[in-house]
Amino acid sequence: MTIAMASEKELKTESNQKYVYLFNEVDQAQEKMGGSWEGVRSLLGGKGANLADMTRLGVPVPPGLTVSTEACNAYLEAGEQFPDGMWEQVLEAIKDVEKAMGKKIGDLQKPLLVSCRSGAKFSMPGMMDTVLNIGMNDAVAEEMIKRTGPKFVYDIYRRVIQMFGGVVMGVPDEVFEAVIEAQRKAAGVKSDTEMSADDWKVITEQFKQIYKTYTNEDFPQDPLEQMKRATEAVFKSWNGKRAFAYRDAAGIPHDLGTAVNIQTMVYGNISDDAGTGVAMSRNASTGEKELEGDFLMNAQGEDVVAGIRITQPISDLQKEMPNIYAQFEEIAQKLEKHYRNMQDMEFTIDRGKLWILQTRDGKRTAQAEVRIAVDQVEEGLISKEEAVRRVKPEQVDFFLHPQLDGEAVKEATQIATGLNVSPGAAVGIVAFDADTAEKWAKEEGKKVIMVRPETKPDDVHGMLAAEGILTSKGGRTSHAALVARQFGKPAVVGVSELELDLIGRKMTVGEDLEIYEGEWLSLDGTQGIVYLGQLPTVVPDFKNPYLLKLLGWADEIRELGVWANADYPRDAERAREYGAQGIGLCRTEHMFFEAERMPIVQKMIMSKHAVDRKEALDQLLPLQRGDFEGLFRAMDGLPVIIRLIDPPLHEFLPSFEELVQDLADLKVRTQHYHTLSEIDAALAEIRVKQDYLERVEALREMNPMLGTRGVRLGILIPELTKMQVRAIFEAACKCSKEGVDVHPEVMIPLISHVNELKTQQAALEAEAKAVMEEQGIEVTYKFGTMIEIPRAALTAGEIAEVAQFFSFGTNDLTQTTFGISRDDAESGFLMEYQQKGILADNPFASIDPNGVGRLMEIAVADGRSARKDLEVGICGEHGGDPKSIAICHNLNLNYVSCSPFRVPIARLAAAHAALADK
Ligand code: ADP
Ligand code: MG
Ligand code: MG
Repeated sequence: MTIAMASEKELKTESNQKYVYLFNEVDQAQEKMGGSWEGVRSLLGGKGANLADMTRLGVPVPPGLTVSTEACNAYLEAGEQFPDGMWEQVLEAIKDVEKAMGKKIGDLQKPLLVSCRSGAKFSMPGMMDTVLNIGMNDAVAEEMIKRTGPKFVYDIYRRVIQMFGGVVMGVPDEVFEAVIEAQRKAAGVKSDTEMSADDWKVITEQFKQIYKTYTNEDFPQDPLEQMKRATEAVFKSWNGKRAFAYRDAAGIPHDLGTAVNIQTMVYGNISDDAGTGVAMSRNASTGEKELEGDFLMNAQGEDVVAGIRITQPISDLQKEMPNIYAQFEEIAQKLEKHYRNMQDMEFTIDRGKLWILQTRDGKRTAQAEVRIAVDQVEEGLISKEEAVRRVKPEQVDFFLHPQLDGEAVKEATQIATGLNVSPGAAVGIVAFDADTAEKWAKEEGKKVIMVRPETKPDDVHGMLAAEGILTSKGGRTSHAALVARQFGKPAVVGVSELELDLIGRKMTVGEDLEIYEGEWLSLDGTQGIVYLGQLPTVVPDFKNPYLLKLLGWADEIRELGVWANADYPRDAERAREYGAQGIGLCRTEHMFFEAERMPIVQKMIMSKHAVDRKEALDQLLPLQRGDFEGLFRAMDGLPVIIRLIDPPLHEFLPSFEELVQDLADLKVRTQHYHTLSEIDAALAEIRVKQDYLERVEALREMNPMLGTRGVRLGILIPELTKMQVRAIFEAACKCSKEGVDVHPEVMIPLISHVNELKTQQAALEAEAKAVMEEQGIEVTYKFGTMIEIPRAALTAGEIAEVAQFFSFGTNDLTQTTFGISRDDAESGFLMEYQQKGILADNPFASIDPNGVGRLMEIAVADGRSARKDLEVGICGEHGGDPKSIAICHNLNLNYVSCSPFRVPIARLAAAHAALADK
């Protein structure tokens, strides 16, 4: 792009700048752009660049020309004036096209008709729609009828009036459609194909009337005027409201401009052995290596995606026109080889000849993305690195997404089937329009299935808010299918059994089943099935062979280790299955929260005397030991970092307010008791509650997050952390004796001063040694600390003298660095900060590189210079965020630790970080 802009400036001073490139002049375009293919795409737009590229490859493309994006920019800059010489260049180039085709624009015997197609570097909604059949007029029509018959000619003529009228002049399309609809009724036919020549003739006449009514002029009869005005309209559409808004949202620069492609028409509607279609070179849902797409015989252009007629699957073409199918397959493979990616192609068959009208990299599901990447490596098309790079970390998420519960499905009522265009399960209540879907989902927190006849770009906000999408019309390449796939929304489209009544807010399925807006539906997007009601979902098994292979390659590439945060043996097992190489954080307090343990924990906290406390701790010890044994077994051979108790103690006690209320209630009730035993019991209860209340009050802090927690607790109640260390080492010794390869690492949380660590660690290491002596066995272990307070990061050199490892607790480190309480901020001013651009990212989601990142950098450097083999990782929630993973890679951390479900994502993200670094 920089090249494009540089040369643009350079060339502006030249008087004979080249604005127009024939499809067979791609070499010239590339030379101008210093050989860069990206440059050609900037100059000619994606569509134009690929049309020219296909021409160079020898793929049959109808001849044509591209007016460059530079011309567009010059036109807009000059206040909507073609730059000098541009139109003359178009006319010159058209002569070449005419010569190649043996036809001439406006010629009565051999008229050349063209399409006028917009095409920017990035495809975007809001750009001008294509106008087909430019060059048609009364005189041409009259002569053409003699050769091809009137039906085809009037079909073509009415189309150009409709498209030119709608797209260039802004005549509302509904008006044209209403005329067709009325004529269909009058003729007593159901589809456009059944319409007669006379029907189209009547329609053409009425279209001319409509055109005149809306524009106060006749439909232009001069073919070159049609072409010129269409070209201008494309240029202007670059600054259209929707295009502008889209670029803002998508971060596409506003100065790229759009190109215009003027291309010889080929006719899919000329006869019954003509047709048009769209197809992907591989299955866009599953990634299987087979052509996937739809076509229509005797149809033109957008008819396929518009959903007005039921399309045929591309496999039918193999039966109906085996030669054409074979040719298409060959071209698809050639293009795949050339672009080294799956292609999405438009084609037209004109009297037995196949033409390709467009190719681009195809949109696909995550499942297909992974499979295609792996297959293409095995086919020798791309490298492992490229395959790894191509799959986005978030796409891995799909493999961990819910599917409908198989058992429930057996019992469920299947009401309809359609095309399975985007996999996964979606369960929600029906909403019949995008605004309702968005409102219900966003404001009322409901799960919604958006149901439409078909979708348009205006519906996207509703689709995004919905769990899944269901349409009654449209094929595999319909808008609904493409959007759903792109955003990973399960979708079933083209369910013809559905009859939608948007006014009555209900839909009918088959004869008599009626479903009203707000009722539950379940979709299986993987198979294309619609079920009645609210079915349960399950998370799928993580053993897609393609994904496993791809992640294996990612593992070869990445330098960061990927560990998991897991508190329970079952989480550790899952983490390991997902590829975790260690446990980076086991939160021991979670073990305390389990219902049957709470009373013991409370007793431990409540006890005023050491003896009582010891009794409670003795009860907790075997429970904790059991938990740790499970973890060590699950992680046999791998490190397990266990963090000693972290949260403030009052979190284990009932809330202060509740206790006060309870006590008040109890006292009132006691006044009504009569028997002595009743009163005695009540008084005893009051005493217990009173004790609780006092203790809770004593432990209550104004700022518990900055209060007695982390290491401070261990210093205050040394027996507690000692018991935990004992449990860890008893478990480790026991497992080790049984042959399990244990690597316990004890982590002390929330230190800010090295002396805190020294005090705690000395006592705890002594306990560890004592246990090992008792057990008569040594295990390798580490003691280390979390770095989650800025002071700890800044004094990391001192701390590393004591600690054998660091783990960044980036949640707390972010809170304390910014001085922002995460729980309060995320729903409040942080959002505002992001909207106002004060913060680019939410620092709790992605590590703040300059502040928190800088502290980490200091800590790593100072820590490692004090202790060369210091192990450094991160265990905050950032550990599963790709952007933060890249920061961790650049800081040379040993590992990131994240929730088990994010482990596969982190493996891929770590590989991306390593690739970006090379
Ligand atoms: P979009 O970007 O919306 O897909 P296109 O420019 O690709 O718009 O054109 C819309 C439809 O018209 C496509 O189906 C395309 O194949 C068809 N089309 C465009 N130009 C021609 C042409 N010269 N001959 C036949 N069909 C064409
Ligand atoms: Mg297209
Ligand atoms: Mg913390």
